[in-house]
Amino acid sequence: MRVLLVEDDAMIGEAVLDALRAQHYAADWVRDGALAETALRDGNYDLVVLDLGLPRRDGLTVLRGLRDRGVHIPVLVATARDAVSDRIAGLDAGADDYVLKPFDIDELLARMRALIRRSAGRGEPVFQHKGVALDPATREASVDGVPVTLSSREWAVLEPMLLRPGVVFSRRQLEEKLYGWKEDISSNAVEVYVHGLRKKLGADLIQTVRGLGYVVPRA
Ligand code: CA
Repeated sequence: MRVLLVEDDAMIGEAVLDALRAQHYAADWVRDGALAETALRDGNYDLVVLDLGLPRRDGLTVLRGLRDRGVHIPVLVATARDAVSDRIAGLDAGADDYVLKPFDIDELLARMRALIRRSAGRGEPVFQHKGVALDPATREASVDGVPVTLSSREWAVLEPMLLRPGVVFSRRQLEEKLYGWKEDISSNAVEVYVHGLRKKLGADLIQTVRGLGYVVPRA
């Protein structure tokens, strides 16, 4: 899953970015509101973690602009512990949830998982499909109850497809789930990971849609 972190505090930003990457998110970090708007126009994100007090353009303005354009991406607002009015303003401007600063990283990650599954119209915390189960909280995968070890990049390719069975993902879209900015992408990376996933999880789970991409078919 690809996440945009908008945070002007260097120490907080670095700590959150490290935590996101350790959890295998493809995460990009910008430090002001104007750069956030650019990133959100160009990028294909599954979630935004948005600080409200930002240079150049405040977080509420970024959020309102996003919702005015009809973009439904989940937004998790980060506010100071004592700033109740900021939390209310953020939610009323279109935020989906908030976290309090200083962050408890585990809480942040749990709220992110909840928002990502809800954005896909799902309530259950473990994604199951034709005997394959993925638990985003524990990072455990299994086939018919038997644990399977997936690499973080195999996970990154499979999770969005398993979250939305029946939706075709282009190679480009899956590449975006794999890499943050400035990381080199080998041209056949997605094919390599899909091949590995088929070997581990069964040949039928991910189907190739010629000329379009890949899909986990509906059960
Ligand atoms: Ca700030």
